[in-house]
Amino acid sequence: MDLLTDPEEKIMCPYNPAHHIMRKRMNTHLSKCKRNYPESKLVECDFNVNHKVPEPELQYHHENCPDRRKIEHTVYHEEGVPINKFPVHNIEVQADESWDSYDVPSYDPVKYCETNVVIRRMDVASAAVRKNFRMEERHRLNELSINKPIPSSSIQPQQSNRNHPGARRNLPEIPRGTVAEDTPESVAEIMNRIVIGKDKAFIPKPRAGQ
Ligand SMILES: [Zn+2]
Ligand SMILES: [Zn+2]
Repeated sequence: MDLLTDPEEKIMCPYNPAHHIMRKRMNTHLSKCKRNYPESKLVECDFNVNHKVPEPELQYHHENCPDRRKIEHTVYHEEGVPINKFPVHNIEVQADESWDSYDVPSYDPVKYCETNVVIRRMDVASAAVRKNFRMEERHRLNELSINKPIPSSSIQPQQSNRNHPGARRNLPEIPRGTVAEDTPESVAEIMNRIVIGKDKAFIPKPRAGQ
């Protein structure tokens, strides 16, 4: 009997579901109970053709057949080597890039934002620190817009730089008050127009006639 099964555990008799018998008593019970079902056909055990058991008992027998362990041991551990029933054939794949290379510098979001035209905000700091940060940001964005091309698409800034290395975006001089809605405007210009008040920043509307 299997060491992992509890001999005291009650299991169902394969002949009559009303019979709940302790595992250790089942063999004795079956030898008596089967007499009530003489019409049961005898079938062969899957593990040993010499085992003929009444059909209702087959599953119980398979679970407890003494030859089962021998067969399983032979099938899975023939000569100590596990048999792979469904071998996966190795296909050699030529990789043109290695994802395991550690020579690539990791992405630093702070550094990227510092060196690209990205609007940054500081939400948690004292008013003085935030004001100072905004002033520095305005200066930084101004510098960046002069020294770096503004990416045409913020989604693919790298691509844009690669296609136009060192290209400068020539923005037309936009007179105040005549900005058409579809005229592109640099971030630095927008930042320059921001007026920082006592407790809020705003962009003043252009006066009429200006
Ligand atoms: Zn029974
Ligand atoms: Zn058997």
